[in-house]
Amino acid sequence: MIEQDLKNADLKTLFEMVDKIGRKRYHRLTSADLEDYRKYDNWRYVQADPELGSTPISKKWVADHSTPTCPVCGDAHYLRGGKNIDHKMPRAQYPWLSMNFQNFWVICRACNLEKAEMNWYEYERHCFKNYPDRYHHILEARPQKLLLSLVNEN
Ligand SMILES: [Zn+2]
Repeated sequence: MIEQDLKNADLKTLFEMVDKIGRKRYHRLTSADLEDYRKYDNWRYVQADPELGSTPISKKWVADHSTPTCPVCGDAHYLRGGKNIDHKMPRAQYPWLSMNFQNFWVICRACNLEKAEMNWYEYERHCFKNYPDRYHHILEARPQKLLLSLVNEN
């Protein structure tokens, strides 16, 4: 599929396509994929333990890649539990994207908890339905390049 087709595809088509690719890929996970999953915890947390706090390198990344307000709800992060790095494509389903920075964005803790393990397209659909006035922010954050890379590797 060429890039233009993907850009023009409607949400339902994209959702079905990526969901299919995610499921297919998930059945041939390698130990390297799971290693990426662990690598993220080592990068993010002191001794890979969230209780011990964030590492200086991931704190700096968050500071450099976030705005004062959450891109989803528009509130100041500190009012909603602080800044969280969310994996746009959940790492439970896409562990090989755990350490892919294109897959990261900084949202508030409350929005992160609400997103939970939703696939990006489930999440877009969820926001479109529940927060239509905020939907354009979600659309801007769509991980287009990652989706293309998923399509191209299959
Ligand atoms: Zn938020």
